[in-house]
Amino acid sequence: IPVDDFDLVIFGGTGDLARRKILPGLYRRCLSGQVPDDARIIGAARSDMDTEGYRQMIREAIAEFGGPEAADGKAIDRFLTRLHYVTVDARGDGGWKELHDLLRKDVINAFYFSVGPGLFGDLAERLLRFEIADTNARIVVEKPFGRDLESARALNATLAQHFNEDQIYRIDHYLGKETVQNLMAVRFGNVLFEPLWNNHYVDHIQITVAETVGVEGRGAYYDKSGAMRDMVQNHLMQLLCLIAMEPPSMFDADAVRDEKLKVIRALQPVDYHHIVRGQYDKTRTSADYRTDAEDPRSHTESFVALKAHINNWRWAGVPFYMRTGKKLKARSSEIAVVFKDLGHSIFPGDEARHRNILSIQLQPNEGIKLQVTIKEPGPGGMRLVDVPLDMTFAEALGPDAEGVPDAYERLIMDVIRGNQTLFMRGDEVEAAWAWTDPIIEGWKARNDVPKLYDQGSSGPEDALMLLHRDGRKWREIK
Ligand code: NAD
Repeated sequence: IPVDDFDLVIFGGTGDLARRKILPGLYRRCLSGQVPDDARIIGAARSDMDTEGYRQMIREAIAEFGGPEAADGKAIDRFLTRLHYVTVDARGDGGWKELHDLLRKDVINAFYFSVGPGLFGDLAERLLRFEIADTNARIVVEKPFGRDLESARALNATLAQHFNEDQIYRIDHYLGKETVQNLMAVRFGNVLFEPLWNNHYVDHIQITVAETVGVEGRGAYYDKSGAMRDMVQNHLMQLLCLIAMEPPSMFDADAVRDEKLKVIRALQPVDYHHIVRGQYDKTRTSADYRTDAEDPRSHTESFVALKAHINNWRWAGVPFYMRTGKKLKARSSEIAVVFKDLGHSIFPGDEARHRNILSIQLQPNEGIKLQVTIKEPGPGGMRLVDVPLDMTFAEALGPDAEGVPDAYERLIMDVIRGNQTLFMRGDEVEAAWAWTDPIIEGWKARNDVPKLYDQGSSGPEDALMLLHRDGRKWREIK
């Protein structure tokens, strides 16, 4: 469905995120016919460059990051005519008048802050002082949204000084994934799951976001953050909210976000015996975390596993195990809802340990599978076997001519549509920090040293023990 006409300004339009994700994503949306012919994209950054130079830069970015669609030279030429560039310094006054004159007032105006959070206040202030943004403008901001509760509050206050909450789109690209939305469709669009979605039938839930990459060139930056701030506070907690929330009364931004907020507020403070931190060790051929982080004494974690509890009627007693880390065995993100054992089996020789598992896979392949128990085909008698019932839409619906839009593409189109459902509200972000801050402060106070783990493994031994102690085990990372 085409969106309305717009002018989108990307502050930081020459940066890594803009070149790798935002512009290739917009290019694919244009190819799909969703973007009106007149819509324009305006790069705005500090580099001294003209529109021609910018178009050339983005041509190269699309060739590198645009995927198979980047082979269509004519389509790229057409896309590039939409692009403009203005040199602006967020902290100076040059270029802003030019930006003001360039923008069309009679179309949707969106401003993507693809710059460090330290510049949000400067950008916001100038957007208003130069009468560029009004109360209809949409502001998109990127993670990291603060590094603790105090800084997140300060950022929210800075934005609130200039804009209303319904103008602010805080991106968590995990929420833009097709499967995350499909999860809501499966939960709330079927009669089958909701009656079982509680502590009577669910044994536990696992959320895994495993990466194979290390901190690469971003070591010094990452070292100030760590897995808890970089992944758990945002991506993993957002997934937890969608799994655990009560059904909203309608699929509307505030109704959904109200329910997510209730989940975060109901989280029990984590017992530190229920958290494992890790750092990847060196191998014969690659360096350890501390070398990559450029600090031989770093105590920052590149892995974290924890057991959380939600204090409400639905989830009382159901553990939510979460883990994320770098340099693990495989790149794989999965949410698994593990239902309880049967209790009693009528089949001879069967131990009634068959478990239905709903597996929501976000990476590398998106899809949803339900593990069910059936009879093994053949004359071997009543032998039971667990098989996955595949709800992957690509197979069910046939190959989609347009391709499945990537998370960034979808979210940017939602900004233009004015739909905030898949964006974090300010109070959600603050509540998430309020839960993670004491964990991080606790580590600091105890001078906690992360456990070493082998590269290419599933994390430290202690993380396996976290479930083993409860008579459970992690799903395999594959
Ligand atoms: P980058 O360093 O590659 O680019 C920064 C951009 O900001 C450049 O275009 C630069 O010209 C511009 N800029 C810097 N100072 C400026 C100023 N004073 N005035 C105007 N423009 C200025 O950074 P990036 O990797 O593109 O990241 C941008 C933001 O997105 C950061 O907050 C980052 O944390 C976040 N983010 C990045 C990624 C990623 O994959 N790169 C992922 C998630 C979030």
